[in-house]
Amino acid sequence: MKYLIIGNSAGALGAVEGIRRLDKAGTITVLGEEPYRAYSRPMITRLLKGEADVDGIAMRSPDYYRSMGVELVTGVAAESLDLDANRVSATDGKSYDWDRLLLACGSKPLVPPVPGLADLPYVTFLTADDALAIRERVVNGGCRRIGVIGGGLIGLSLAEALMDMGAEPLIFEQMPRILPSIISDGVAGRLAGMLVDRGLAIYAGSGVAAVEKTGAGYVIRLNDGSMHEVDLVAVAAGVRPRTELVSAILPEGARYLPVDAGMATGQEGIYACGDMVSLPEQLSGTSKPIPTWPNAYMGGRTAGYNMAGGKADIRVALPFNAFHYFNIALATAGCSVAVNGDETVVWDNGAYREVMLRDGRISGFAALGDIDNGGLLSWLMRRGADVSACGAEIAAPDFSHLSLSPELRRELEETVKEGQNEGSGSY
Ligand SMILES: Cc1cc2nc3c(=O)[nH]c(=O)nc-3n(C[C@H](O)[C@H](O)[C@H](O)COP(=O)(O)OP(=O)(O)OC[C@H]3O[C@@H](n4cnc5c(N)ncnc54)[C@H](O)[C@@H]3O)c2cc1C
Repeated sequence: MKYLIIGNSAGALGAVEGIRRLDKAGTITVLGEEPYRAYSRPMITRLLKGEADVDGIAMRSPDYYRSMGVELVTGVAAESLDLDANRVSATDGKSYDWDRLLLACGSKPLVPPVPGLADLPYVTFLTADDALAIRERVVNGGCRRIGVIGGGLIGLSLAEALMDMGAEPLIFEQMPRILPSIISDGVAGRLAGMLVDRGLAIYAGSGVAAVEKTGAGYVIRLNDGSMHEVDLVAVAAGVRPRTELVSAILPEGARYLPVDAGMATGQEGIYACGDMVSLPEQLSGTSKPIPTWPNAYMGGRTAGYNMAGGKADIRVALPFNAFHYFNIALATAGCSVAVNGDETVVWDNGAYREVMLRDGRISGFAALGDIDNGGLLSWLMRRGADVSACGAEIAAPDFSHLSLSPELRRELEETVKEGQNEGSGSY
């Protein structure tokens, strides 16, 4: 069997490991546009800060691809797919065949149509090379005040690293609050207050109207008329799935490539995973993008296992994020805000927490400051456990397995035991 994987990141690693569960002999080729072996994208902040080189944030050892029987082709992008011939043409002038194909192309930065922006040498923050380029501008190019357009996860992680380097980032977020897509007003307001206390400049609620060149730097003009001088503009306004290769199989009007829970695209022998797909989300069952590292890895692993003849569904099809920004812990999962009559249970005493309940079951939560029992809340949410008997205690930082009914506690203990026996999973 010939396996071809396009993209060399979280999804690809999962796929290689999923394939090798069942098929030790098939040939696996991985085409990666970037010139590196797979590295941790969340850790590119370490490159920016000069704490590591790209090898230092690699996800697997230098020997990994050889030991897994993988031909890794780096610095080469797939350019077009021939779906009739099962063949990909690539930028090295060669073509690559497949019996089973995995698309794991991830995402690219979304650059908003702000007047003046396209003419500037702005930077983005998605890849190792992006991080190294920003480092060069800060360390050797004298850039100190950096305008970051976008107050989402990528903008905040960039801002944190820049502050650690002694630079002065300014966050511009058009929505009234930071992290608009993953937390509620209550959590965002508290988090923003903590970040401002740590010295971060946040301008939320007014979009960028234009960016203009001035002398040695730039002026960012907001819709509210205020002007901000910066030395460098960084665009962190979100990401778009890289579906350019699959336009022929993308449903009309869809931005993400839909897959089923086994990561199949519906095209014979073609699977996809990670940031470029939408997949049945576990709680609602509706098809949604879940652009997180664990989802990409587990999606790849599920796809690989199925490509090699197995039959499995992805296990973690649920939005879950846990971060430490500016030494503040934040965990979020599921729905970020209460909808359609959901109840929100709030804990606001030292730590701040919101747990959303739908018909007595957890539909989402956010924990700020103390995230210790985030794993337990996630398990209860995935399990669809009825927690109505827990009352307000469900949002307390000391809510623990001891607070559960004896039946749920037994089930949790079984799950933990199973997890320990299976290691990283049975597929
Ligand atoms: C700064 C930052 C911080 C993050 N922090 C977190 C975090 O804390 N927690 C978390 O869960 N997630 C985080 N993420 C998101 C996480 O990194 C992604 O969800 C994950 O990397 C997606 O994996 P993927 O395999 O789908 O694609 P990607 O990691 O995007 O990789 C896709 C690869 O495919 C290559 N490629 C694309 N098209 C082609 C082609 N035609 N031919 C060959 N190669 C191609 C690309 O060059 C790229 O190397 C963060 C992301 C960033 C940028």
